[in-house]
Amino acid sequence: MSKKVFVLGSINVDLMINTPRLPEKGETILGSNFRISMGGKGANQAASCGLLGTETIFIGNVGNDDFADLALEDLENNFSIDTRFIRRKNDISTGTAVITQVDNDNVIIVDSGANMTIDLDQVHSALNEANEGDVFLAQFEVDFDLVKESLKLAKAKHMYTIINPAPANEIPDDMLKDIDCLILNQSETEILSGIYPEDLDSCIEAKEILSSKGVKALLFTLGANGCLYIDENLEVEVPGERVKVVDTTGAGDSFIGAYVSSMVKGNSIEASLKFANAYAAFNCTNRGARSGLKRFGTYAELVK
Ligand code: ADP
Repeated sequence: MSKKVFVLGSINVDLMINTPRLPEKGETILGSNFRISMGGKGANQAASCGLLGTETIFIGNVGNDDFADLALEDLENNFSIDTRFIRRKNDISTGTAVITQVDNDNVIIVDSGANMTIDLDQVHSALNEANEGDVFLAQFEVDFDLVKESLKLAKAKHMYTIINPAPANEIPDDMLKDIDCLILNQSETEILSGIYPEDLDSCIEAKEILSSKGVKALLFTLGANGCLYIDENLEVEVPGERVKVVDTTGAGDSFIGAYVSSMVKGNSIEASLKFANAYAAFNCTNRGARSGLKRFGTYAELVK
């Protein structure tokens, strides 16, 4: 029986607008190119995983509003996500990010809304369907204590647990021991270990600090420099793909979904890293967090 991936995480709708400058307090200015796109780290990672044909079950909450319809339709129809464990909550909005783009910089305000209302019963019901070896994947855009308790449930079920600590948050030692693999980018690594990872030596240094507290494996994503995996027995470094970068938004999310999807299909760690590295690089050649994923078939044509 093929393995499943359970994602506990956030679902956001991103409202984006461009402007030549930010307004002063009390001022109204004109913007342009308004667009709505689907986001949330949890939903992005699940989308990447579901699109690659892996059975992906999402645990999350949305509001009882029109944005919820948009987000759920997108996850179900475009990415084949199992949404049975997503609840609609009254009197609170679907997670929303208001993003103002000034030149190439973003100014972002997030209302987590329903993302903060997921409860442990919901996680319990979903994980009742999990088998030994299925993957439990979570980030930190939902309630932190919920993630901590859910990890315990996942370990009790003998699942393989993966945490992407984004946004970065101190992880208590009694939580680290329940994490089989921590996937972190450079800024998350610096916040959690005090070491900015650039090369094998600095990644090993960061690994020493975090694994002394009980994490079994670390997977560092290094932006254009690729990625590096370290556990007790294995060290694998994969250099970044040289692509024509258009937008790196969501690179980490597409990487994580692709890595997990490849692992549950039974591929080796090394093969999964190479695949995720290529998939994420390809996503950087398109604008938007998820928009490039569907055209991955043409990846080879885009590598210089
Ligand atoms: P995040 O998006 O979380 O900040 P990274 O910037 O580390 O994460 O990117 C995640 C992965 O995406 C990298 O490990 C790499 O595989 C790919 N990637 C990111 N930026 C580039 C780039 N400029 N060129 C090629 N691949 C990239």
